[in-house]
Amino acid sequence: MSNKTLIIGAGGVGNVVAFKCAMNAQTFGEITLASRTVSKCDAIAANVKERVGVEIQTSSLDADSVPELIELFNKVKPNVVINVALPYQDLTIMDACVACGIDYLDTANYEHPDTAKFEYKEQWARDDDFKKANIMALLGSGFDPGVTNVFCAYAQKHYFDEIHTIDILDCNAGDHGYPFATNFNPEINLREVSANGRYWEHGKWVETKPMEIMQVWDYPEVGEKDSYLLYHEEMESLVKHIKGLKRIRFFMTFGESYLTHMKCLENVGMLGIKEVEHKGMKIVPMEFLSTLLPDPATLGERTTGKTNIGIYAKGIKDGKEKTIYIYQVSDHEKCYEEVMSQGVSYTTGVPAMIGAKLMLENKWQNKGVYNMEEFNPDPFMEELMVQGLPWKIIKE
Ligand code: NDP
Repeated sequence: MSNKTLIIGAGGVGNVVAFKCAMNAQTFGEITLASRTVSKCDAIAANVKERVGVEIQTSSLDADSVPELIELFNKVKPNVVINVALPYQDLTIMDACVACGIDYLDTANYEHPDTAKFEYKEQWARDDDFKKANIMALLGSGFDPGVTNVFCAYAQKHYFDEIHTIDILDCNAGDHGYPFATNFNPEINLREVSANGRYWEHGKWVETKPMEIMQVWDYPEVGEKDSYLLYHEEMESLVKHIKGLKRIRFFMTFGESYLTHMKCLENVGMLGIKEVEHKGMKIVPMEFLSTLLPDPATLGERTTGKTNIGIYAKGIKDGKEKTIYIYQVSDHEKCYEEVMSQGVSYTTGVPAMIGAKLMLENKWQNKGVYNMEEFNPDPFMEELMVQGLPWKIIKE
């Protein structure tokens, strides 16, 4: 009997997941795309039908409501739910999956709308529920988190006896021509980059001020870029699962214009996430800013340049010191040509599809809640090569 797949969220990433699942329809079977604004699902479905020739069903859905989710799950009866809505919806969707006995996958860890803090605690706490329901959750199957976790697991499996340090490097050298815009959901993006930085060293977390640490890294096929230390969620699971790790850090590149705009917006209070009174109405400054900024899903056709995301690992193999950089380079224009989305949505949506594909094919299956590096990295690395995200390794 053929599979059924439900995708939740019709933004930039949802668009890529819909295209890529349709391109792999022999695995995903009947595909349904559900989101808050059904017209966005319909527009994606029409493009997929025209360019890939596969029919996608659409539905409106408020994924903050567990009863509404359960009603849709009972109607669609999917084998897997791919959550590419916002991190705020992770827990409701997970709870509905437990209630209906359906496998779950997402690309970003849970955040409470009122607290700009992200951690796996509440999702990991559902491990027993998933085990009892005999289902699986795969957390963070985007690029970072996601492919970066798989790169670490691959390095550990094939190149090291012990990895001592990892630097995760995320470079987006794309240009969309706007003075200021974010490449994925503005609210989530700005909450992430305006928060304190954090890295892990010798068994404990070290906190930094936002953007306090800058290093220049040389990215193959892109060049040297100013890169800023941020906290990023994959570090929380990698410190648990990578043997012998002494330090892990995450760096992301930002251009001058982005940083100046962000600082100014922060200084005037536009990044606030608490309600303020405005002419008798209550508004959240960050939500209002999100409304004003370009929708990331519309950046595709105007973005040029490349992304380079990878992991730089140092450690020991057969008693000798060793260093490798595993990385992937994507070209924004090529991504748009293939699926009508820019590179950041593409590099997130393709791994989401691959994670779900491996689950449906029983190559990555277990009961409970898992992070990416807990599975055999080899089948995922093979899929990356053929699904549009070929990777390379530099050994020193
Ligand atoms: P967008 O804002 O473009 O899209 C989010 C979609 O979710 C929109 O269609 C939105 O609906 C829908 N949505 C929001 N709330 C609800 C709700 N309550 N019920 C149903 N649908 C809802 O975001 P992106 O596509 O850029 O990002 C999607 C996810 O991918 C985010 O969680 C983001 O953090 C994650 N991500 C992960 C990365 C990784 O590498 N791991 C990198 C980049 C992103 P509407 O259209 O009505 O607003």
